[in-house]
Amino acid sequence: MSELRRDPITNRWVVIAAERGKRPQVLEEDPPAKGDAVCPFCPGSEDETTPEVFAIGPPEREPNGPDWGVRVIPNRYPIFQEHSEGLRRGYGLFDQINGVGIHEVVVESPHHEASLADLPVAEIQHILQAYRHRLLVHRNNPNLRYVLIFRNYKKQAGASMVHPHSQIIGTPITPLLVKAKLDNCHKYYLDKERCLLCDLIWQEINWPQRIVSASEQYIILCPFASCFPFEVWLCPRVHCHDFALLSDQNLLEVAIALKEMLMRIKLTLNDPPYNFILNTAPVVRPRPGRPEYWQTLQYDFHWYIELIPRLTTIAGFEWGSNFYVNPVSPEQAAERLKQVSL
Ligand code: AMP
Ligand code: ZN
Ligand code: ZN
Repeated sequence: MSELRRDPITNRWVVIAAERGKRPQVLEEDPPAKGDAVCPFCPGSEDETTPEVFAIGPPEREPNGPDWGVRVIPNRYPIFQEHSEGLRRGYGLFDQINGVGIHEVVVESPHHEASLADLPVAEIQHILQAYRHRLLVHRNNPNLRYVLIFRNYKKQAGASMVHPHSQIIGTPITPLLVKAKLDNCHKYYLDKERCLLCDLIWQEINWPQRIVSASEQYIILCPFASCFPFEVWLCPRVHCHDFALLSDQNLLEVAIALKEMLMRIKLTLNDPPYNFILNTAPVVRPRPGRPEYWQTLQYDFHWYIELIPRLTTIAGFEWGSNFYVNPVSPEQAAERLKQVSL
């Protein structure tokens, strides 16, 4: 099992996960990456993966049979694993937590060479339904504090498999970056009794140089302090703190907006590697001694999707300072993304 360790100087948690070294690489440049014999995510190779925990397919389908549209499987080389208890311990300066949690893979399409941006919106909606289902299941797991859903696309963005997929990781502590976002939204709410992201969306719409597109329900924008070139956010205009609360109709609307965002990135930047991340509410459970902890969460947090094309490398200055140097202003990026005709 992996282990989380805290660096006492930076306060950063690190996962020591020796088993991850064993995961296979099935990428474009490897010889035949296509077909049932090689790719464990292709239909017909279901017994090459851990048994599925969720799938979307016809009602008469047998679990782990081939006829599926989306399939969720436990990761065979997990960063975090189920365990009966999340043992927290420490000695002297060092804090440690067992790597208790969950790690799942969402196989997004039966087609090995499908591209998420090109999928029909109904199929993207099915992927989002799988995300929602897993968020609802995992919030009952007492060992989890946060469930992070993300997508690594292409090798430069960390992908080891070419078959379309995203991942779900449930962690035994709230990641520091997530905590910073939650804290800032919470403090803003305490001060103003307004949602920070609702205010940000309103402000950006009234000064639209960073808006890529806006529909009645969603806006796509390049954030004011983008760390990376062509960083984009997809934000719902109607306040909602929790992606898992969305209806099927809502998910269809997210699918339409997500497809638009992916198409704009693909066409502007020639199908670049990217990561996307779903920012949503944490697992909320009363904590001993902290009854007030999530009291305002439903008013102060606002879910959104963040996409980062991987066009630059992180070098010494970034490592040393945590300042990111972005050679493309978000205003220039928004202008370029806006020009794409879909
Ligand atoms: P990525 O590395 O972002 O491409 O995500 C693919 C994930 O699939 C990795 O985390 C692998 O550990 C996982 N994986 C690879 N092969 C299998 C398999 N046969 N069954 C389940 N998970 C797998
Ligand atoms: Zn495949
Ligand atoms: Zn809001």
